[in-house]
Order: sequence, then C-alpha cells, then structure tokens
Amino acid sequence: MRRGAVGGARRRDYKIRSGGETPDDKNITRKRVSLSLFDLTGRTALVTGSSRGIGLAIAGGLARAGARVIINGRNAEAVQKAVDELRKAGLQAEARVFDVSDPKAVETAIDAIEREIAPLDILVNNAGKQHRSMVVDFPDEAWHDLIRTNVDSVFFMSRAVGRRMIPRKRGKIINIGSVQSELGRATISPYTATKGAVKMLTKGLCAEWAQHGIQVNAIGPGYFDTELTKTLVENKEFTDWLCRRTPAGRWGKVDELIGAAIFLASDASGFVNGHLLMVDGGLTSIV
Ligand code: NDP
Repeated sequence: MRRGAVGGARRRDYKIRSGGETPDDKNITRKRVSLSLFDLTGRTALVTGSSRGIGLAIAGGLARAGARVIINGRNAEAVQKAVDELRKAGLQAEARVFDVSDPKAVETAIDAIEREIAPLDILVNNAGKQHRSMVVDFPDEAWHDLIRTNVDSVFFMSRAVGRRMIPRKRGKIINIGSVQSELGRATISPYTATKGAVKMLTKGLCAEWAQHGIQVNAIGPGYFDTELTKTLVENKEFTDWLCRRTPAGRWGKVDELIGAAIFLASDASGFVNGHLLMVDGGLTSIV
C-alpha cells in the first residue's frame, strides 16, 4: 500500500518534470532519440565501386537507414542491376557510371551529381582492387593500376567532394581501408602500401577539414567473401589459416560492415574524426 503510494507520487513527479510522459513513454522516447542519431533520411550518399561486394552492401545499408544512394562502377550494366535491386526493395538509388581513378571523369561526375541529383552529404570511397604476386615478379603496370585505383581515386574523389562540402560546413567521408592498412602479408605488398596510404590520407583530410564540420574516417575490413577474395575463399589452405588467425574464426559477411558505415555516415559520429574503425573479427587485436 505504502509502496504503491510512493510509486504513484514518483510517477506524478515524473509527469511534471518531463511534460506528461510516463516512464514507459520516456524509454520509448529515449530509444527514438538515440536511434534518430543514426537516421539518414534526406541525406544523399555516393558509394564508389558499389555495383557489387562491400560497396553494394554499404550502399544498401545507408539506403535502408533513409539515404538516397548513388551507385557507381565502370560497368553500366552491373551498376544498373544494383540500382534495380535496391529500387525493387523500395529504396532510393541512382546510377552513375565513371572511373574514380580518372580526375577529369571524377570532376565531371561530381559536378553533374550535385546539379542533377542533390548536394552530397556522404561519400564512401570504396572502389578498390587487388593483384597478388611476390614483389620480385610484380609487373609495373599492376603496381601503377593498384596505386591509381586504390589511392588516386580516394584523393581525386575526396578533393572534388570536399571542395563542395567545405562551404556547406558539413559532410561525411568514409574511406575503405583494410586490416592491411596496418599489417603486411606476403604476395600483397603493393596492396598493403595502398591501404596504408588510405589510412594516412584519412588522417590528413581530417587535419584539414574537421574545422569545416566534415568528418573523415575509415573502415578497415578484415577478410570478407567477395569477388576480390574469391580465389582465397576457394583455397582451403588459406581459409583454414584465416579461420585460425581470426579470433571470430570465420570469413566476414559483407552485411557486417553496414553498422560501422551507418555510424560513420550519421550524426552519431559527429566528433569522431580521422579514425580507422576495424571490422575484422578481432584479427588486428592479436598476434
Ligand atoms: P569487389 O571486387 O567485389 O568490388 C569492387 C567494386 O569496385 C566493383 O563494383 C568494381 O566495379 C568497382 N571498381 C573497381 N575499380 C573501379 C574504378 N576505377 N572506378 C569505379 N569503380 C571501380 O571488391 P570488394 O567489394 O571486396 O572490395 C571493396 C573495397 O573493400 C576495396 O577497396 C577493397 O580493397 C576493400 N577491402 C576488401 C576486403 C575483402 O575482404 N573483400 C578486405 C579489406 C578491404 P567495376 O570493376 O565494374 O568498375
């Protein structure tokens, strides 16, 4: 009886303090407030290299969080297929076919996107490639191609988009690094050099643009089953080694990168800048 009276008094106090909400209402309101930090409704996001793999998963995740997403790649058919897939799921998606390693194509594409679709709120620099060979056998062209695709693209894209974000005093840039931003491995030394560069470019852009309200961060995926890693996935010896080497004991699934991408694309990460967020099943946490 007495306990009920105290409870009733508390409930009334609560109503006065919080404008008529009951504790249950308050919990729901709190949940809504915290979830709204991750809401991307009304935002426009360009994800490079999003016709498949990690880029497509991230684009789909950002779209499900409310963003209009722009799908990119060099193969028009593959880009349109990805757009159709997202639209079929009721999501907002547009296609833009261009080579992110070509500075002229980048400038033309960003100008057109901002005029014809909307100013970009979010840029995900995801396009990338791999070439596996020991350094002594590594062809010049493969080296230049890796540098162009994995590093030049991040520089050209960030510069074109950053120039437009700075006067708007807001923006999110997410670069896709790798566990190889931190760790070497035989047969992929040039790739590790490119991903180390992506990490340091992330920090440099943060140094210049944080003051303008722009957050530049990176995600470091561990090993994920995609076209890029197909030969490794099919290689039992490699997969056995990887599962022993990774505390989670398995390959990553591309959808497991969505949470990190939404966090870094949303207001939830407003004071996070220059960070490389590993999503790697613990791989970089152990020797
Ligand atoms: P995929 O090979 O599956 O996809 C690569 C995407 O990039 C495709 O859409 C491809 O389309 C596009 N692309 C490549 N070059 C260009 C270019 N010059 N201009 C525009 N688009 C381009 O790779 P993943 O999804 O596996 O990898 C995505 C990113 O994640 C890469 O940066 C990779 O280094 C990184 N990463 C991947 C890991 C993994 O385990 N899979 C681990 C760590 C990092 P198209 O060729 O038709 O242009």
